[in-house]
Amino acid sequence: MAEKTGIQWTEHTFNPWWGCTKVSPGCDNCYAETLDRMRYKEGERHWGKGAPRKPASENSWREVEKWDRAAARSRTRTFSASMADLFDEEAPPGALDRFWQVARRCLHTDFQLLTKRPERILTSLPADWGKGYPNVLLGTSVEDQKRALWRMPDLITAPAHLRFVSTEPLLGSVDLRQWLRLPGRPIRWLIVGGESGSARPTDPAWARDLLAQCRESGVAFFMKQMGDLGIVQLGRKRSQDGDLESFPVDLRVREFPCSWCGVAIPPGRQRTCSPSCRTQLARALPREEQRSRAA
Ligand code: SF4
Ligand SMILES: [Zn+2]
Repeated sequence: MAEKTGIQWTEHTFNPWWGCTKVSPGCDNCYAETLDRMRYKEGERHWGKGAPRKPASENSWREVEKWDRAAARSRTRTFSASMADLFDEEAPPGALDRFWQVARRCLHTDFQLLTKRPERILTSLPADWGKGYPNVLLGTSVEDQKRALWRMPDLITAPAHLRFVSTEPLLGSVDLRQWLRLPGRPIRWLIVGGESGSARPTDPAWARDLLAQCRESGVAFFMKQMGDLGIVQLGRKRSQDGDLESFPVDLRVREFPCSWCGVAIPPGRQRTCSPSCRTQLARALPREEQRSRAA
């Protein structure tokens, strides 16, 4: 449940548990459910209301801290969760609390939390969250405009050091302008991706429009994949969809937000945009460490 990953915008995935319930059209072809179905027999699966979630092993929890120690000089990124939704109302008892404890301790890790249940964020945050842990990015998934209208206000309302949005699978045009540059509560990062597997179409024009919105607002943009249908239309194999060189030239954009201030930086080892941001992040993190010791 803790593993290296092929997801291009992170370095590790960590799942405090497996299992979830579908909540919107973006879930229809959930790859995590497919994996669960392949791995477990009928009656032992972890998807749907009332299906017990499978807690992570002790070894999986230890791995997160191991990755963190290994990143002491460089920082690392860990996506939570790829096989669950951290704000699932049927999470195993205590698992989310334990996750917050690990996030407090793992100060060399940027935790990327992505949910389709942003309405549950506020009531699920730890007591010492304050304006947000400096090493946690809060994000929501938005597959179309209807879901943007549902989910963006809750993401904006939640206090967070950095906020981000994933539009994968992108199932329609999405206009995020009204939320991208809200004073004091900006979105810092946008991920775009078409659907793989039982794929529905993603029009490259929708991705280009989102790129334009990011350019207007100074938001970091990350083109993850064109989707199975899109990549085949470009004359490439499905297996090439993670390969940036397979994309149309104007969509070959993969930026990350600075871990401190959120401005766009290109991929690579660099995590902060300037020495000043590196210093400010380093100053903020020990305060978190002291706070967690006191907790
Ligand atoms: S919220 Fe995510 S993990 Fe849960 S069913 Fe939907 S796509 Fe799958
Ligand atoms: Zn910066």
